[in-house]
Amino acid sequence: MGGTEIKLPEEFLTRMQVDLGESFADFTNSLESAPPTSIRLNPQKKSKLSGKPVPWCSTGLYLESRPVFTLDPIFHAGAYYVQEASSMFLEQIFLQLGLGSQPLHMLDLSAAPGGKSTHIASLMHKDSLLVANEVIRSRASILAENIIKWGIGNVVVTNNDPEDFNRLRGFFDVMVVDAPCSGEGLFRKDPDAITEWSVDNVQLCAKRQRRILNDSWSCLKTNGLLVYCTCTYNSFENEENIQWLSEQHEVESIPLHVDADWGIEKVVFKNIIGYRFFPHRVKGEGFFISVIKKTERQEEIRLKSKRKFTQPPQRMAEELKQWIRHPENFVFSTHHEVISMINKNILEEHSLLLDTLHVVSIGTKLASVKGQKLIPEHELALSVELNPQNFSSQELSFEQAIQYLRKETVVLPEYKKGYTLATYQSIPLGWMHVLDNRVNNLYPKALRIRMKAG
Ligand code: SAM
Repeated sequence: MGGTEIKLPEEFLTRMQVDLGESFADFTNSLESAPPTSIRLNPQKKSKLSGKPVPWCSTGLYLESRPVFTLDPIFHAGAYYVQEASSMFLEQIFLQLGLGSQPLHMLDLSAAPGGKSTHIASLMHKDSLLVANEVIRSRASILAENIIKWGIGNVVVTNNDPEDFNRLRGFFDVMVVDAPCSGEGLFRKDPDAITEWSVDNVQLCAKRQRRILNDSWSCLKTNGLLVYCTCTYNSFENEENIQWLSEQHEVESIPLHVDADWGIEKVVFKNIIGYRFFPHRVKGEGFFISVIKKTERQEEIRLKSKRKFTQPPQRMAEELKQWIRHPENFVFSTHHEVISMINKNILEEHSLLLDTLHVVSIGTKLASVKGQKLIPEHELALSVELNPQNFSSQELSFEQAIQYLRKETVVLPEYKKGYTLATYQSIPLGWMHVLDNRVNNLYPKALRIRMKAG
């Protein structure tokens, strides 16, 4: 906590002392130091950022100091995600288990604000589907915003209870459960986690996690993988929960390769293998992760598409094909005068999700229809599928970019009429409508920066 003294709960310290033995003092000292700042780059939005690499994640970077991210235009453009480094270990699971090499159905069950989901979106095959779910409505909206910023279209954001996923029996190949937990691993980053901690709360969290796992279990197919993680150290919320699950169901624990110099601790508990991250041994926050394969027989829901996606008129469809890089991979769909695109290889999946879940966002919105005209949507500007050659663009200075993101008036040196991409360091921020002698700033009002300059 950068020198601020923190008072940790006695029961927590006693337990950690028993668990850590000799390294207990190193652990408590690490909680006195400032947490490292790390970001994960969006590999499809090239930026000039540099820093020390996170050893287990090819797109992870440690920054020397913590900038004011809100006042960095490319943060709003989805060029990177601010994420603590331990969580980025997810990449190892994808690489070592080959999860990015084939189209799969993936679920991130507790996904807000979107750290794991944006990471999965970048790691998965281009025809994979990711359902990013969040049970709390307001958090589901933030999740949807972060997914849109990231710009990858095959992510459907839903707002459902874990038990609703029983409607999708045997549908998912991979299910990530980043469970709500007692947050012991966040103590130095988030002092509220300390005040909310109690022995009773740990037990309450462990029970809730078991319920979440049990309630959603049937949506994982036979041989499907459960990736379970928390940001807490205690065994009750981690390996003991997975062990409990393995007593209810037929599963196999999957070992992962971990380089000795990464400092990650392998945990073996009865039949379960997991990996624990301590802040005195890794440059990151406290974390636990374990992968298990469901080996029991699971009945599967059949994909049968009854839903018809409404096509836009031919003339509009032809125009829209110019707006995106790979029109051959998508179908268009019109809903309430807004035209979206959906990856045609996962169209049936999209209709199944619309029929079974509470969908917050789906596909990529391309344009709204005003009479005979198409007005480009903000989601298109941020999409990695945007064809920038089709639009004029205007590179903004830092000051102009901040004005733009505050939804203030932007004054341009020249006025080239039409819908124009506002870019910063060549990365699109959104749209401007350039008229004869003024510019309409089309940045969505709900997303505008409200923070005053420092
Ligand atoms: N995966 C996210 C990420 O990487 O950005 C962080 C998820 S956070 C650790 C846990 C999430 O679980 C929170 O967004 C919380 O709202 C949600 N949650 C809370 N209660 C839940 C429940 N009963 N079932 C499922 N999720 C729940």
